[in-house]
Amino acid sequence: MSSRSHKLFEAAKRRIPGGVNSPVRAFRSVGGEPFFVESANGARIRNVDGKEYLDYVGTWGPAILGHAPQPVIEAVREAAGRGLSFGIPNPLEVEMAETICRLVPSVEKVRMVNSGTEATMSCVRLARGFTGRDRIVKFEGCYHGHVDSLLVKAGSGALTHGQPDSAGVPGALAELTITIPFNDLDAVRAVFAREGRGIAAVIVEPVPANAGLYLPEPGFHEGLRAVCDEYGALLIFDEVMTGFRVAAGGYQELCGVRPDLTAMGKVIGGGLPVGAFGGRADIMDQLSPDGPVYQAGTLSGNPLAMAAGLAQLREMERRDGWRTLENLGAAFEAAMREIITDLPLTFQRIGSMFCLYFTPEPVRNLAEAQRSDREAFNRYFHACLTDGVYFAPSQFEAGFLSLAHTAADLEKTAEIARKALRV
Ligand SMILES: *Cc1c(COP(=O)(O)O)cnc(C)c1O
Repeated sequence: MSSRSHKLFEAAKRRIPGGVNSPVRAFRSVGGEPFFVESANGARIRNVDGKEYLDYVGTWGPAILGHAPQPVIEAVREAAGRGLSFGIPNPLEVEMAETICRLVPSVEKVRMVNSGTEATMSCVRLARGFTGRDRIVKFEGCYHGHVDSLLVKAGSGALTHGQPDSAGVPGALAELTITIPFNDLDAVRAVFAREGRGIAAVIVEPVPANAGLYLPEPGFHEGLRAVCDEYGALLIFDEVMTGFRVAAGGYQELCGVRPDLTAMGKVIGGGLPVGAFGGRADIMDQLSPDGPVYQAGTLSGNPLAMAAGLAQLREMERRDGWRTLENLGAAFEAAMREIITDLPLTFQRIGSMFCLYFTPEPVRNLAEAQRSDREAFNRYFHACLTDGVYFAPSQFEAGFLSLAHTAADLEKTAEIARKALRV
């Protein structure tokens, strides 16, 4: 192979660990090599060798309007003309905070950061500072960024590469993290009965999307809310993926459960590096400079990032994007279900997020996700890629639709998937 992608990857591997700046991009689990991107527009991404793909990764979630949407590009251009970073308040930060508080039901105050990892890390510190307790409960297969306390039985790249428990996390710290199977409320109650007064918070992806995609069973989040209330622990929803994606107000708008803190990211950055965390005002007021919990960021509230995120959210609201995405998602689901009727596969979806598991049984937690036939997934992935459809290069990642995907794109994709599954 002497493609430009191959040459770039060879050069990258000499100077970047594994040749990538985030592990899942290395294509290790599916085999082969990643392609390097020249440009992306709408639902399509073009590699440096001129091949075009229909893209279902959407930069892992942020590209909800598709790639390079005009209103976002223009907002960034306009903001850039006024300066790239100030390190002192700018008006866009206020507009962003007001927008988030208006859209997300439980968020009374919010602080901007630069990644989802920073958002969850700050939630954990704040929960510990607020409650004066150290223990954290998380769920197997949930991924909350590469935070020390949360890289325990983690999903996403950590799971894909067989390192759900990372080296370099001190045992003393990992011991403070208790992991429980998702959807297992009895296990949650048992853990709280044993050590509930030492638990600062339960952190959960309300719809886990970093071990494929599976849904909470009815009553699960209500149960978490009740247990947290009973023991004085905080409930943290990590809506970095689901926030502004499954609904304007994230999954909490759909399920009606009010978390104490919410971590956000991805879609609110419009493709720029952004995260945010917010929630109850009395908890958020524990942050410095008002309170004793320290948290800061040189580039936090960056004007370009705020402009991009605001433009993306405005466009989603103006076009009632979430309704369109639900319709697109339902159409895609119907097409995929038709294709797999006589195959031992399971298709799961919420709104514009989906996953095809290579197991006939429904998937409700990590253990069930791991029953998926990874070899079959890898063959499917490569067959689709060859035919110009780019799904995430791991069984343990979700797929994403955007407003740029047309009905025709989805039909074409379903045909390619049908062929790939017969190989
Ligand atoms: C992507 C993701 C994160 C981490 O966000 P980064 O911006 O990659 O640091 C945290 N939680 C969830 C649920 C995510 O999907």
